[in-house]
Amino acid sequence: MNDNDTTISTLKEAVHQLCLRKGWGVEGVQNPQHVAMAMTVEMSELLEHFQWLNPEDVDALLQGRDPERTALIAEEFADVMMYGLQLTRCLGIDVTGQVLRKIDIVDHRPPKPYDPKR
Ligand SMILES: [Mg+2]
Repeated sequence: MNDNDTTISTLKEAVHQLCLRKGWGVEGVQNPQHVAMAMTVEMSELLEHFQWLNPEDVDALLQGRDPERTALIAEEFADVMMYGLQLTRCLGIDVTGQVLRKIDIVDHRPPKPYDPKR
């Protein structure tokens, strides 16, 4: 299974099945407030792998010359994503619809005055 052959719904269900196996939450559904807070903790763990990187370190990452760090980043990203999938599942949020909706919003809003790309 990979990004090309797995739907977001399948991932939501896989995370839900993990919660059920672990006995987390009520019938595998954890308090969304707790899930959102846990997501920020995992986001901090993800950021830790970028802390104090110099431009050469970033180049190494982008060019695939730091597979150990990339693996650690991938693991923390998975933690963030798993909480995100739990949150969207229990709140009935359609990830694809919301991401596409947000892309449309960003696409059509005027650039912010402090946008560094201007
Ligand atoms: Mg983690």
